[in-house]
Amino acid sequence: MSGPPTTEVYRIDWVPGTDTLHGLCHCGAERSGQDPVEMWEWMLAHPVGHGAEPR
Ligand SMILES: [Zn+2]
Repeated sequence: MSGPPTTEVYRIDWVPGTDTLHGLCHCGAERSGQDPVEMWEWMLAHPVGHGAEPR
């Protein structure tokens, strides 16, 4: 069973018990931070910063 089509391809969740946000993009890129604005800017700057974060 699959859900209805959605245009909401970005997810930003609070990490429980912390002040940290966790963002997940439709491309699989992830980012953690404490500033929602910065998080959205990262999302909207796609693909800048996506999939290129060294670990
Ligand atoms: Zn992305």
